[in-house]
Amino acid sequence: MQAETIAIGTELTTGAKLDTNSQWLSLELAAVGIPVWYHTTVADTLEANLLVFRQAVERADIVLITGGLGPTLDDLTREALAALLGVELVLDEASLQIIKEMFSRRNRTMPERNSIQAMFPAGTEPIANPRGTAPGIWVEIPRPGKTPCRLAAMPGVPSEMKPMFRDSVLPRLSDLCGSGKVIRSSRVNCFGLGESHADELLGDLTARGRDPEVGITVHEGTITLRIEAQGDSVEECDFKIRQARATARERLGHYVYGDNDEELHDVVLRHLSQQEATLMTAESSTGGLLAMSLSSVEGPGACYRGGWVGTELQLAGQLGLRFVPNLEPVSRVSNLAQHIRQQSNSDYVLVVGDVVMTTTDPSGPPIPKVYVALAGAGAPVTAEIQGLSDPTILKSRSAKTALDLLRQHLATLAVQSE
Ligand code: ATP
Repeated sequence: MQAETIAIGTELTTGAKLDTNSQWLSLELAAVGIPVWYHTTVADTLEANLLVFRQAVERADIVLITGGLGPTLDDLTREALAALLGVELVLDEASLQIIKEMFSRRNRTMPERNSIQAMFPAGTEPIANPRGTAPGIWVEIPRPGKTPCRLAAMPGVPSEMKPMFRDSVLPRLSDLCGSGKVIRSSRVNCFGLGESHADELLGDLTARGRDPEVGITVHEGTITLRIEAQGDSVEECDFKIRQARATARERLGHYVYGDNDEELHDVVLRHLSQQEATLMTAESSTGGLLAMSLSSVEGPGACYRGGWVGTELQLAGQLGLRFVPNLEPVSRVSNLAQHIRQQSNSDYVLVVGDVVMTTTDPSGPPIPKVYVALAGAGAPVTAEIQGLSDPTILKSRSAKTALDLLRQHLATLAVQSE
């Protein structure tokens, strides 16, 4: 037993948009033990839709279609389904009533064109869509010598498709759930060490064929461990994931900063909020990256009190500090951080300096470096970031290194106060 997803839309086949619906649906199906063998993406063309529907019904036991249910002329899913089943489109009065009510609740009259959304291939069943005007379509298609193919067509808009799948499609597949292996995954995020160092510390945890499997990926200095567990139930997978995550945390220690979607700035803001502390920033080479990430989180906004963006010379001018170009770059960022902390009454200040070109090997190319400093209660703590090839990566790593200085400091305080 296996499934196929079909994503419909010329915006997907031209590359203007990425098909994230199939990715989401596959993760949902994997979590209930239903394997997906095919992802098909097809343009808004009746002939092509019919072709891929025929093929999918033949080769997959479950077919999940998204897109093409709207009221416009290029929305062809219902016509293609009617052609596949060899039936007419018929009006479903109850669906028409629901669509009309949806418009009248918004004080609008329903455009005539929307009545097409209440038309269904004869013998199919509407699936309720509380978030939008297009109901989904459900049908079980008999296949000679095989179990019927269960097919659901859902809207393309992810915010409509997801609740429809969870509330109305998944329950129609419940007898098939758990018939295969359940797959669950989780991520552990780390910063401050290289990929091979992480691999070395993790030891047998990343061995091939291990259950759960642990893979390492790197993105702009962030190391992500992806843990994937297989089992007979969600509980079994979650237990295996919890164990692997605990081992990873034990072996990688302070390098681990969060799980799944958690980013460094989320963790810093959470600690600041719990410790009722405040932060200001001054950044040169990161051009506002720190300020952007720290102000992108809703909620503990009061902890981040804003900052400055400019070159070290501009920052010194704005803050009434004398800029001393001959001073070691690391001392310049330390002084700046300490000065801001004294002038403001912020508990912490993070400073990212200019890009400094250095030459340790006279025969080699100059190497870009960035210095960052954290001023808190004691002497400023600093770090050096060396650029490799891509300037965007140097920016991102510098911002992350600054955040990580503070994250480690706050985490230590949190442990001490426990
Ligand atoms: P509607 O009822 O809103 O008209 P629909 O079923 O006709 O829905 P489409 O018109 O195909 O859906 O898509 C609407 C929007 O949903 C697209 O512009 C796109 O932003 C998003 N969308 C569609 N398919 C996908 C997909 N496979 N992955 C991610 N987003 C998608």
